[in-house]
Amino acid sequence: DSASRAAVQIEGLLRPDLRGRTAYGAPQLDVPVQLNTNESSYPVPQVVVDAVAEAVTKVVPDLNRYPDREFTALREALAGYLTCTSRVAVEAAQVWAGNGSNEVLLHLVQAFGCPDRRALGFTPAYSMHPIITETTGTAFVHGRRGEGFDDVAHRFDLSTASAVAQVREVDPHLVFLCSPNNPTGTALDLDTVVAVHDAAPRAVVIVDEAYAEFARPGTPSALTLLAGRPRLVVTRTMSKAFALAGGRLGYLVADPALVDALRLVRMPYHLSSVTQAVARAALGHADLMLGTVEAIKQQRDRMVIELSAMGFTPVASDANFVFFGNVADAHGTWQSLLDRGVLVRDVGIPHYLRVTAGTPAETDAFLDALRELAPTHR
Ligand code: PMP
Repeated sequence: DSASRAAVQIEGLLRPDLRGRTAYGAPQLDVPVQLNTNESSYPVPQVVVDAVAEAVTKVVPDLNRYPDREFTALREALAGYLTCTSRVAVEAAQVWAGNGSNEVLLHLVQAFGCPDRRALGFTPAYSMHPIITETTGTAFVHGRRGEGFDDVAHRFDLSTASAVAQVREVDPHLVFLCSPNNPTGTALDLDTVVAVHDAAPRAVVIVDEAYAEFARPGTPSALTLLAGRPRLVVTRTMSKAFALAGGRLGYLVADPALVDALRLVRMPYHLSSVTQAVARAALGHADLMLGTVEAIKQQRDRMVIELSAMGFTPVASDANFVFFGNVADAHGTWQSLLDRGVLVRDVGIPHYLRVTAGTPAETDAFLDALRELAPTHR
């Protein structure tokens, strides 16, 4: 029929390196318990709803004009927020933002990657790192995790020695470090970040800290390493701890010279007036927006304990999710949980599933559903 003829024709016209690929596709299903994309389960507090609505109302009459291309007020607000929450002095000139941290990652790869360059990441990590990289024609090298560890509990850890050896072998132009790592959950030692940076003298080193606010005590941010390292970048997002995934606002912190280079690749006016107003209004209530972080961490820690008691092997987590192994049939268990109204994530690693930490009631629903399946699914 004509639809399949068109599909064949388009496939033939497509860039050769994109043919046969499948798009990012975490299922978006309307089920009672959604624990598959590491969003916050808590709705925006009413005080913030009102502040955001008021801020949007103020910009609507001016929607005939383009937004501030430099999003100056938003950058100042983000710099202030980081300075307060991380105890590292951040200036507006060091901050860049986009429609989600996915877009700031894209800007980085567009500016520093190209078809004869390569990026290195340590797999499994965030699945969009290779996808974003390859859309620019930059090669992505899948580095390994778990080298040098015998214990299954450390199967997804990245040792400094292993990371440095792989960096030397690949000689990358871009390095992706993900800390805390998605989907496995554990944060990196800052020693590893520094060693990777020093071992890759011509690379832009990106530390994706999408989940930094959930880290266990004593896990410092790579923000503390930025001074004097103009090739180092820390990316963050308002989608996770800040509970604003639908607002689409991600950002990065780096040397002002690196930030300046990103202007070469961004589309003019990429952050709409509405996006800027929403993000600024929410940042004005940062305490409220971050108010559920401790409760979410408690559910995370509770899931780690209860999953171990059930015979699964959860990985230590600094994020708002738990990656757990010893699942006999990961896809079958994923489906059986879904049949019970609980959506978790099957990231395609045999015998492992990932579950987001949400409300206490969601944890109950998830654990109860899993208990119903046991022991056949262990
Ligand atoms: N980095 C990591 C590690 C993530 O897990 C995600 C979201 N799943 C992102 C970046 C992108 O999130 P956003 O575009 O919403 O900021």
